[in-house]
Amino acid sequence: MFRTNTCGELRLSDAGRTVTLAGWVQRVRKMGGMTFLDLRDRYGITQVVFESSDNEALNEAANRLGREYVVQVTGTVAERTAKNPHLPTGDIEIIARELRVLNPSEVPPFTIEDDTDGGDDLRMRYRYLDLRRAPVRRNLELRHRMTMEVRRYLDSKGFLEIETPMLVGSTPEGARDFVVPSRMNPGQFYALPQSPQTLKQLLMVSGMDRYFQIVKCFRDEDLRADRQPEFTQIDCEMSFIEQNDVIELFEGMAKHLFKTIRGIELTEPFIRMPWADAMKYYGSDKPDLRFDMKFVELMDVLKGYGFSVFDNAEYIGGIVAKGAAHYTRKQLDALTEYVKRPQIGAKGLVYARVGEDGTVKSSVDKFYTQDILRAMADKMGAEAGDLILIISGDDTMRARKQLCELRLEMGRQLGLRDKDKFACLWVVDFPMFEWSDEEQRLMAMHHPFTHPKDEDIPMLDTDPAAVRADAYDMVINGVEVGGGSIRIHNADLQAKMFEILGFTPEKAQEQFGFLMNAFKYGAPPHGGLAYGLDRWVSLFAGLDSIRDCIAFPKNNSGRDVMLDAPAPLDQKQLDELNLAVELPEA
Ligand code: ASP
Repeated sequence: MFRTNTCGELRLSDAGRTVTLAGWVQRVRKMGGMTFLDLRDRYGITQVVFESSDNEALNEAANRLGREYVVQVTGTVAERTAKNPHLPTGDIEIIARELRVLNPSEVPPFTIEDDTDGGDDLRMRYRYLDLRRAPVRRNLELRHRMTMEVRRYLDSKGFLEIETPMLVGSTPEGARDFVVPSRMNPGQFYALPQSPQTLKQLLMVSGMDRYFQIVKCFRDEDLRADRQPEFTQIDCEMSFIEQNDVIELFEGMAKHLFKTIRGIELTEPFIRMPWADAMKYYGSDKPDLRFDMKFVELMDVLKGYGFSVFDNAEYIGGIVAKGAAHYTRKQLDALTEYVKRPQIGAKGLVYARVGEDGTVKSSVDKFYTQDILRAMADKMGAEAGDLILIISGDDTMRARKQLCELRLEMGRQLGLRDKDKFACLWVVDFPMFEWSDEEQRLMAMHHPFTHPKDEDIPMLDTDPAAVRADAYDMVINGVEVGGGSIRIHNADLQAKMFEILGFTPEKAQEQFGFLMNAFKYGAPPHGGLAYGLDRWVSLFAGLDSIRDCIAFPKNNSGRDVMLDAPAPLDQKQLDELNLAVELPEA
């Protein structure tokens, strides 16, 4: 037998047994006549002792071991005198009798311990070594347990796991595609799926009724901390359902994950917040509800008193930071700088403190009487000791987004965004379309297959921008963890949708003919959603970036620095694919 036990397994009850372990040398320490070896594998760390009085040669061999050597050790389990309460195996050690080096190792480029000295780039380059570290490995273990629970839950609800192809056609809507040239079809290209959206809808036309897939999706977008060019979705679709059915079933899945993975029992139904309210009260379609700090609109209270910034504003809104009146001038200046950063773009910040005697002192005192400031504080529900922060602007949406950033930053500063606290909600009733300045046309906010709300369908002809959709997002702690919609299943309505989105009938037929044709053969009412697996795992693991829960992620420029991809192709490959590369001049 190669090993009788793993390095995380042995306990005091095993004392006296002869065992064989195999693993990596985490560390070797020489103390007096003894040598201590920390032996590591996926399951844990076990201390191995070599006593020179027993066997000089063996002890010397142990002293020659370097970090990350792969070894096999046989010995006897013994109770430790100095126990280590931080290790599950900390009550025992192995008194070694035999040592075999299975494979030596070069000195690793960084220390492979929980706290490493390796910088980001180095660890990415040697990701296979980084994955030996317990904190990183634990994220992958968590990811595995989550996908197991997802499968268990969906299987129990009658879902079939069905694979859809990775080589599909390019779709113009949404993000940019990654494309793959076809050798057998010269000059033609596949695209990697941005999501299996249309395919899962076709599976509903096929009568599969309930489908899911834990599937890679590809989007050629600019990267952020919570984005990777390839990422994993838990993609689902159901037939003969209404929006409420989908919401309930997938809320059930979220609760199942919270319970089985985090041991948290969520008994209350999730809040369902119309998109318009989310924007009005939190300036975001993914509000972080771990803390309140709702926006209060102040146009009626503060406009018209000679303060030109407010007098010319289209929006004035504020938040109350409870108990933060102690903020110093310096802290408030820093907050002002924060919202003025180009990424946020506010022109400035007005603040007011409510004193212990109830008087309100603001940064714009010269324009407002105490009565007006009091009226403002009352409207906002601000009390003694509170800090009021106000943002204004000539574009309501933009000003709300700025106030949203300020709210999140205040929540962070006041310690209200605890990673172990979870606030879940559904944002519902999204607008069907949003205007794109770049394209100078309406774009689908979710995607072109989303069903408009029945009562809003007449407005498709008169005021499409006002049409709401049967679309919903699940949001946890300010992160969009999933989203979906009820779909159009009627060929005429689908054609109309493409028309509103600016497709000519020919173009719609060319791009989506397969779907509209399928709808002619008895498409059932259907809908679904996709959860972002990477985001779920990050949320449960308390990670700042989804990168840390992906075995081999890309860096911020979309590169895999370990594989050194992407890379140029050699001429032979290019020729086979009928491709010529022409780079813009540097
Ligand atoms: N395909 C959609 C997405 O990737 C999700 C869905 O509507 O089911 O966002």
